[in-house]
Amino acid sequence: AAPRGIVASSEVEQSYIMIKPDGVQRGLVGEIISRFEKKGFLLKGLKLFRCPKDLAQVCFIRIYYLPFIFSQEHYKDLKDKPFFPTLIDYITSGPVVCMVSTSFVILSCKAWEGAGVVASARKLIGATNPLQAEPGTIRGDLAVQTGRSAPTFMNVVHGSDSPDNGKREIVTLLFAALWFKEGELCQWESVQTPWLVE
Ligand code: UDP
Ligand code: MG
Repeated sequence: AAPRGIVASSEVEQSYIMIKPDGVQRGLVGEIISRFEKKGFLLKGLKLFRCPKDLAQVCFIRIYYLPFIFSQEHYKDLKDKPFFPTLIDYITSGPVVCMVSTSFVILSCKAWEGAGVVASARKLIGATNPLQAEPGTIRGDLAVQTGRSAPTFMNVVHGSDSPDNGKREIVTLLFAALWFKEGELCQWESVQTPWLVE
């Protein structure tokens, strides 16, 4: 058996989790971080960030690293949806808290086994529409907004929907950083690891 507490560096599944502007404005930052902490996810990156809306607000060096503007690149799969413009307004309306969470992964039988942080974080977060999100989930407990004609759900938090999107949203590929830059993530091991995974 592999020694306990081996944490992978680059192979670990990671989720990009973001407290949206309504979560920050409503004073829910501590509550939301606490839920992921208590679950046992390992926090690898954390910052308060004001997402620029226009290219004009993005400094030259950021343009160089970013193919697009953060929020529009982040939600590019939704760009044809009627709520896309209001979604961008919403995400750029105030500071967000950007986080990277990873599950503990141990090497065993030559295979990487993980707790599946991406799917698990989505369960903690709950359904997109806060009125349909189950009690016990973050959105079910803490959000209510359903919007009007082109509904833009203010649902306090984002979580990556697949490991690949987790990578896309976090990772710094050459010249294509999205929410985090090289050097902003912290590689560390938690003393809790042996108590969370066998
Ligand atoms: N959204 C919305 N109306 C919709 C669907 C989505 O306002 O009908 C917003 C909402 O804020 C949501 C975000 O767009 O969180 C991204 O949509 P997605 O379908 O990816 O939902 P999520 O992954 O956040 O649950
Ligand atoms: Mg999504």
